[in-house]
Amino acid sequence: VDDTFLEIQTTLYDQNDHLIFIRDVTRMHLLEQMRTDFVANASHELKTPLTVIKGYLETLDMFKDDLPKSMQKGITNMTDQSERMEMLIEDLLLLSRLESDDEREEAQWLNILDIIRPILETTTSIASSSHEIKINIPADARVNGSFKELYSAFSNLIINAVKYSPDGGEITIEWRTSLTTDELRVSDSGVGIDPWHIPRLTERFYRVDKGRGSQTGGTGLGLAIVKHVLSHHDAKLDISSEPGEGSTFSCCFPINRTRPDDTPS
Ligand code: ADP
Repeated sequence: VDDTFLEIQTTLYDQNDHLIFIRDVTRMHLLEQMRTDFVANASHELKTPLTVIKGYLETLDMFKDDLPKSMQKGITNMTDQSERMEMLIEDLLLLSRLESDDEREEAQWLNILDIIRPILETTTSIASSSHEIKINIPADARVNGSFKELYSAFSNLIINAVKYSPDGGEITIEWRTSLTTDELRVSDSGVGIDPWHIPRLTERFYRVDKGRGSQTGGTGLGLAIVKHVLSHHDAKLDISSEPGEGSTFSCCFPINRTRPDDTPS
């Protein structure tokens, strides 16, 4: 039947026989679709009231000096929180788009440095930071994919490296090649992550230190976005970390995504 989703699994039963499990997952699939649609619609609907609130806050901000100190503080807090909410809505919409597969950009050959350079130059939290950022990427490093998606994945990793390491800390962005994969690695010398958190980091809203979330200004969706983008590019996220020493986030691409000559015609 057209709208039926089946999950098929085979297991070796004994030397000659196989067991085949067929599970009807149509209902699960529909529920998942409803959840994705709901998040996309709710995020979209939240945009309009937020734009109105931000507009009034901007007007209030112009007359801030005439207001009592307590109100000035209130306006600053409301502005910060509305910016945070805007980031959350943007990230939720981006995740919904990544999940829906509807508006996929056509894959093209992209130079890695052409993605990384604009991230470093135009992202305020990176450009204005005092971190020492070292880049070790050959001029011909390439990937076949979507510029927008890879831009957002790589920028999330670099923003995190800045956010979770002290001022002046060293960050390395490098391209590593091996026989079967090519990796974009972002390493920092920051707070690091305890090993038991690592498998859960790409879950939506998962944070190691819940309290720090609002201070560091993230949405808790960054690594979920990275995971989705990488799966669209047949790639995987590898995380290694040493608490107190730093972390390395590697995007591992299969070579047919990174070496034009190895691409099947
Ligand atoms: P957030 O918006 O909270 O940064 P992310 O999904 O990007 O959300 O990351 C999830 C959590 O993973 C973060 O809250 C943080 O605890 C941890 N994390 C991510 N990147 C790093 C890093 N480079 N160093 C240490 N911890 C990190």
